[in-house]
Amino acid sequence: QLTEEITSKQIAAGQRAYELDREHVFHSWQAQGPFSPMTILKTEGSYVWDGEGNKLIDLSSQLVNTNIGHQHPKVIAAIQEQAGKIATIAPQHVNDARSEAARLIAKHTPGELNKIFFTNGGADAVEHAVRMARVHTGKHKVLSAYRSYHGGTHLAVNITGDPRRFASDHASDGVVHFFPAYPYRSYFNSTSLEEETTRALKHLEDTILLEGPGTIAAIILESIPGTAGIYLPPPGYLEGVRELTKKHGIVYIADEVMAGFGRSGEWFAVNHWDITPDLMTFAKGVNSGYVPLGGVAISPEIFETFRERVYPGGLTYSGHPLACAAAVATITAMEDEGLVENAKRLGEQIIGPRLAQFAKDHPSVGEVRGTGVFWAIELVKNRETREPLAAYGGSSPEINQVVGAAKKAGLLPFANFNRLHVVPAMNIEDEVLIEALDRLEQALIVADSFVE
Ligand code: PLP
Repeated sequence: QLTEEITSKQIAAGQRAYELDREHVFHSWQAQGPFSPMTILKTEGSYVWDGEGNKLIDLSSQLVNTNIGHQHPKVIAAIQEQAGKIATIAPQHVNDARSEAARLIAKHTPGELNKIFFTNGGADAVEHAVRMARVHTGKHKVLSAYRSYHGGTHLAVNITGDPRRFASDHASDGVVHFFPAYPYRSYFNSTSLEEETTRALKHLEDTILLEGPGTIAAIILESIPGTAGIYLPPPGYLEGVRELTKKHGIVYIADEVMAGFGRSGEWFAVNHWDITPDLMTFAKGVNSGYVPLGGVAISPEIFETFRERVYPGGLTYSGHPLACAAAVATITAMEDEGLVENAKRLGEQIIGPRLAQFAKDHPSVGEVRGTGVFWAIELVKNRETREPLAAYGGSSPEINQVVGAAKKAGLLPFANFNRLHVVPAMNIEDEVLIEALDRLEQALIVADSFVE
């Protein structure tokens, strides 16, 4: 049945796109054969329309990047205007979109992270941050957490702490993984947040000492791990990491690709703990992903290393005018429309309380956690044992049914292993969000049927 917004002509165009996709398009992170992607015919605000014309509430923000929703008119206009002015220019030339984007980003980064290097996305931001740290320190190793995601390029996927790195980690290039602070599934048998912080920090310092502080260039951490489960660091953990990096002469890279630009209810997630890293990576929300863009915010100390010394890196599209014009318009809209504050409010007043109620009402809900518009529901078969509804690193028929139920109820959900993430746009209307959570509850009823 067609919704009034979608015509039969659009449906036919979507069917043609689907056929061509199956014939010619090679997709990310998929076995190509059985993959049956969803066609999107139209997007607007917090809605997307699928290939059959069904109107779904986007609870995923795509890959958690459309922080200000779809087709924000001011951002679309800015891209159009920039395209009519200068569509592209080599990276060595000054262009006003890039200069202004850098100014606006620096305005919101913590401390004095006031120099901005632009990349095409998150993975290459991570690659460059590590390169800067290596040249700056003259050391090579990089420490990163298991249960993390830092991107799909060679070094970034090695740094990643999820199974997606397995196919590429035969040449680990100095990457050493450590166990993160993750209270719900503690690697340290902790029974309180305090204990988790103390033990996780001891484990990290032991790792530093055993690897040799004189060999470690950087520690990279998602301030709030995103795809890996939106598990908030317990109080004192990130502060402790910051202290350890200072003590041992290690560069602290905060990866804010997913958590940054308002998603957590602060401009950057590190703001929750009042920490200033040495380098901070960003992408996604910086321009809501309307044009690919990422980057690294750089401290004065690391900038000094490259004042007289050539930085050994660059990209044809570093600071691409269309991407930067989109960033200027996105950040300006976030400021003018109070969207970061709104994300905080949505988390405190709508998502948090409703998810807490889900945890009370649904035996399949093991834990709910999050902040702003950045939340996870951990689905389990058994609350006592915390056995996940899908094993780590995979899916299961059960979780597939839960995701199917969410789609059937009119949602575009974000699912990873045994988790559903509630990651809407920062400007989703209250009533649409409430409706989305009602629909999500339909999927939880299905999840409950698998509880043993
Ligand atoms: N870092 C984090 C924390 C991410 O969530 C992602 C993507 O999801 C990346 C890096 C990689 O970004 P991109 O896919 O733009 O390369």
